[in-house]
Amino acid sequence: MTELKNLDKIVNLCKGRGFVFPGSEIYGGFANTWDYGPVGNELKKNVKNAWWKRFVQESPNTYGVDAAILMNPRVWDASGHTQNFSDPLMDCKECKQRFRADNLIEDNSKGKVSAEAMTNEQMENYIAEHKVNCPNCGKFNWSNIRQFKLMFETSRGTVEGQKDVVYLRPETCQGEYVNFLNVQRTARAKVPFAIAQIGKSFRNEITPGNFLFRTIEFEQMELQMFCKEEESFKIYDDYKKQAREFLLNLGFKEEHLKYHDHEKLAHYAKAACDIFYKFPIGFSELNGIHHRSTWDLSRHSEFSGKAMQYVDPVTNEKFTPNVIEYSIGADRLTLAVLCEAYDEETLENGETRVVLHFHPALAPYKVAILPLQKNLGEKAREVYAKLSKEFMCDYDEAGSIGKRYRREDEIGTPFCVTIDFDTLNDNTVTIRDRDTMEQIRLPIDDLVDYVSTRIKF
Ligand code: ATP
Repeated sequence: MTELKNLDKIVNLCKGRGFVFPGSEIYGGFANTWDYGPVGNELKKNVKNAWWKRFVQESPNTYGVDAAILMNPRVWDASGHTQNFSDPLMDCKECKQRFRADNLIEDNSKGKVSAEAMTNEQMENYIAEHKVNCPNCGKFNWSNIRQFKLMFETSRGTVEGQKDVVYLRPETCQGEYVNFLNVQRTARAKVPFAIAQIGKSFRNEITPGNFLFRTIEFEQMELQMFCKEEESFKIYDDYKKQAREFLLNLGFKEEHLKYHDHEKLAHYAKAACDIFYKFPIGFSELNGIHHRSTWDLSRHSEFSGKAMQYVDPVTNEKFTPNVIEYSIGADRLTLAVLCEAYDEETLENGETRVVLHFHPALAPYKVAILPLQKNLGEKAREVYAKLSKEFMCDYDEAGSIGKRYRREDEIGTPFCVTIDFDTLNDNTVTIRDRDTMEQIRLPIDDLVDYVSTRIKF
């Protein structure tokens, strides 16, 4: 199976089984937008819950917020986005398609050349020297590079001609910075402490999205750790490790992950590293860990006039904390989880079984209740009522039991509970394991404990 076909198969499975549908599909879609269906919505929610549990619930020095998407436009002046947040784009003068110059170079060199550290002039020269043709029409007739703004604008105000421009936030972290003083004061937080958030961000991405990998609207799971300069590099290294361990605990294979230290650092950054995952499109960024120095809080001090400083309760020393940022896209991680879980197995009878080996904590449904025959429905619904108080459960009474198992395998349900005629006599059921396909007999009263212990993250 070629690598690209692999992504196509996952996209098809997602559409066919209710994970993800093209956005506004009945109108012919809307580029780089996707809607989560019944099982995809559960999967993404579980991905976010796993992240929150690990990095907020289990971290005594991390505090969650949920900040507004629309912020005072001065925030984006302070962050530098109004001036600098843009992509280097080139237009093909033949077919009028638009491309990111850095992507043209990276795709043309099959990932061997990184354009990360190149200036616009260097990129133009590279494209001319290597005669990089338009990927759409194959011609070579490029415009010069122009910077294309990535922030979506909207407006506030009702009087025509008097509207104020506001922006849909392109990253969630500014909501954490502007609340630094509020959180520190109300939580009585001592450095090092972190503010975390999960929320929507918007970027006017024009490049092909590769399904959920790059969308114009996406969710980020982020935390900003505020700390003293002398401890900042240790914290940076710790997050690099923790971010990787989180992925390994979710079931990612070690060989599918790698660190990628940035060659070119932003002028304020002291270090930056991504974790790359082996997506079907090749190794690509899954998350970032950045040492942002005192830049963000200093800029907000300067632009807001409020001193964004921390006072040490013991020494009374006043200082601007350094920031270590850890940021991962919820949609990009959901895609990675789908890619990692997807498997095609050949069974003893020669048939192919498509199965998603999700970590049980991430699986959309934990249990499927399957009455062997329709006239066992009453008992089966009793079991459903009991289990659905504890877990998301599926219920399916249509078709042969074999087909129903296959269907649950394709949406990654870790346990199938079958109700048969013996159940009516002895209150026991068959429970089938998705990965081993082994079946055991259990009393209905033991089901909640049995499943609970196996789905923990
Ligand atoms: P990229 O280089 O892929 O554009 P980035 O370096 O701009 O990403 P950050 O600004 O560091 O990304 O955002 C943090 C995380 O948010 C990324 O690691 C990724 O998981 C996610 N992310 C960023 N842009 C998008 C997008 N357009 N669609 C989906 N997820 C995204």
